[in-house]
Amino acid sequence: MLLTNNLGYPRVGAFRELKKANEAYWAKKISAEELLDAAKQIREGNWKTQKDAGIDLIPSNDFSFYDQVLDLSLTVGAIPARYNSLLNKIDRNYNLDLYFAMARGFQQEGVDVTAMEMTKWFDTNYHYIVPEFTKNQEFKLTSEKFLNEYNEAKASGIETKPVLIGPITYLLLGKEKEAGFDRIDLIENLIPVYEQILGKLAEAGAQYVQIDEPFLALDIDNKTRALYQTVFEKLSAAAKGIKLIVATYFEALRDNEETAVNLPVHALHLDLVRGENQLDTVLAKIPASLTLSLGVVEGRNIWKNDYEKSLGQIKKAVDALGKDRVWIAPSSSLLHVPFDLDNEDNEESLPKEVKNWLAFAKQKLAEVKDLAILAEGEVDAKTAERFEANKAAAESRRTSPLIHKPEVKERTANITDDDATRTSPFANRKAAQQAKFNLPAFATTTIGSFPQTKDVRKWRADLKKGSITQEQYDKEIAEETERTIRLQEQLDIDVLVHGEFERNDMVEYFGEQLAGYAFTKNGWVQSYGSRCVKPPVIYGDVYRPADMTVRWSAYAQSLTNRPVKGMLTGPVTILQWSFVRNDQPRSTTTYQIALAILDEVQALEKSGIKIIQIDEPAIREGLPLRKADQQDYLNWAVRAFRVSSSNVDDDTQIHTHMCYSEFNDIIEDIAAMDADVITIETSRSQMELLDAFAGDFKYPNDIGPGVYDIHSPRVPSTDEMVNLLRKAKAVVPAEQLWVNPDCGLKTRAWPETKAALESMVEAAKILRAE
Ligand code: GLN
Ligand code: ZN
Repeated sequence: MLLTNNLGYPRVGAFRELKKANEAYWAKKISAEELLDAAKQIREGNWKTQKDAGIDLIPSNDFSFYDQVLDLSLTVGAIPARYNSLLNKIDRNYNLDLYFAMARGFQQEGVDVTAMEMTKWFDTNYHYIVPEFTKNQEFKLTSEKFLNEYNEAKASGIETKPVLIGPITYLLLGKEKEAGFDRIDLIENLIPVYEQILGKLAEAGAQYVQIDEPFLALDIDNKTRALYQTVFEKLSAAAKGIKLIVATYFEALRDNEETAVNLPVHALHLDLVRGENQLDTVLAKIPASLTLSLGVVEGRNIWKNDYEKSLGQIKKAVDALGKDRVWIAPSSSLLHVPFDLDNEDNEESLPKEVKNWLAFAKQKLAEVKDLAILAEGEVDAKTAERFEANKAAAESRRTSPLIHKPEVKERTANITDDDATRTSPFANRKAAQQAKFNLPAFATTTIGSFPQTKDVRKWRADLKKGSITQEQYDKEIAEETERTIRLQEQLDIDVLVHGEFERNDMVEYFGEQLAGYAFTKNGWVQSYGSRCVKPPVIYGDVYRPADMTVRWSAYAQSLTNRPVKGMLTGPVTILQWSFVRNDQPRSTTTYQIALAILDEVQALEKSGIKIIQIDEPAIREGLPLRKADQQDYLNWAVRAFRVSSSNVDDDTQIHTHMCYSEFNDIIEDIAAMDADVITIETSRSQMELLDAFAGDFKYPNDIGPGVYDIHSPRVPSTDEMVNLLRKAKAVVPAEQLWVNPDCGLKTRAWPETKAALESMVEAAKILRAE
């Protein structure tokens, strides 16, 4: 009998109920009891949904108020010392105050502690709270969340499979907070807590426990690889009859296959979407005792499963292992996809035909069950019908004229090296641009957006609701743009921007105007804590039916004699922050977007905008998880940027912008983008990030290292910025330097924006005089 297995379920609620409850609790609008109750309802709803869908192995302990890694830190007592004064606030169930203090900082009742650091969960857009470890760190069982949730489900009549992040992955996800030790060596101290956890779950009657070890699918060293064997020997001894499942995801096992299949556990979960080809090699070496959980339904994207293809994989496994040793599952936790497609009813932004190609979390459960029934062979009428519908949807996707635009495919296929190369080398371009713009040394500019005030957001909302007309809206935007141009003139900034008031979001704004894009109404995915994002969906060949930004850029330019910089989002960032097609390589989709951006660049150029910025903040985060795959990605990512920016005049100045990035290991690729100017975020690191540009490899083009942090309302002094610029000048030749903030100013208010920019221009002038 083929069992169905689910690794994790989205927990923010179909309509972001958890976000709302959390935020109400933080604002002291609801009590802890009310928050706990809201959470309980979400959990029970999720369990019931999974039960109704016919899932056999339903996860528990996958719920989290904020983050599952933070939950584990609290469970094993990895609580940094700065929270000691909050320990007495430990609450019977969830330690709420301490927990949220670790997540978000705490500034009340005379206590003032900072939050723990947050970083991206593998290559997803989910962020986890980074565990902090000290030398000789002790661990002790501090929270029984895993047990409470198991018992809670049991009490409501549902047997669940508790989920734990594995001990090796947990340590690797963390950070050493002092020198002199390797965090992986803390394993000795940590294992006893896991043994206790398993003991308690065994006592409570748990039959299965899922232990997530995604690092088994990443690059690890021999020492870690060997550790897996010894750690799981101990865990399985402590499991007292519980069947342990090791879950891997986001990549194939590759060089860790041997290790993974020989762990002394009941089952191993494989991601057969990211690691499609590993099934054959795993089947070739699998020992007779191991069950395989086949992650065939994609947990990271929103496309319907291709049943015929999945059934091929399942059949292969069943032929080798028999039905009892094969489970059907999503590839990873469903945390990374939206809740329920049935809540989408806006045909204008999500056409019916496109909707028919999609599956959100709830639909994916049904797919898992369908596949199990189909593979089992005793097919009822309803499942047979769903199989036919699935085939029809796959066929419609292969052929739909909504998706397939031969002209776009042809143009993309015919991109040449010439299309990806500027006419002249940088030195010649720089001379031509200097002749054209005659900018001073340490030229000043900003990154694009100016404050998105309540008013600006209200105009947009009113336009959407229909309570103001397009003309009224345009008039407001025009006036705000003009005020912003005048202000920049007054401040004596050299290269102006129009302010981006007409934009909601730097990807959505372009997605809405590009062909091949769809939008959801409730397609929320957790990004961190209570923050959710609603990524647009690229479903078809992308092209640009009409100008996207020319109007407001040209309008802004018409108001002033100073150059106004056109403002675009780059192809890799547009790709990275969307749900993307799985019917062609990511690189192909990126090239299509690059050509659409190129068309916009040329339209801007034609309208007289000769400085154009193409933002690529997401280049770094697109890096594949495995080192062996990274260069290939960098090659096409850089080339796509070049396609979007090369076919322009020598005296057209291309800028790019990147934030939250470390550049050390990719600096040559960043240089290969060949933007005339790159602006980067450097102020919070006190210009340390700039070192990457001036190491053994000298970055050849112009650089604007951010001189002030735009994430805080604090206004930096002129002196501070002068000092940062002097630091920059010590490593990068002065002729290469620009002066600008770290990033766009849209989250700031006007008063601090004006004050900070005034000081920034003054700082630039001081440096010019030196
Ligand atoms: N041009 C964008 C802005 O200023 C850049 C945003 C970003 O880099 N995240 O808002
Ligand atoms: Zn930025």
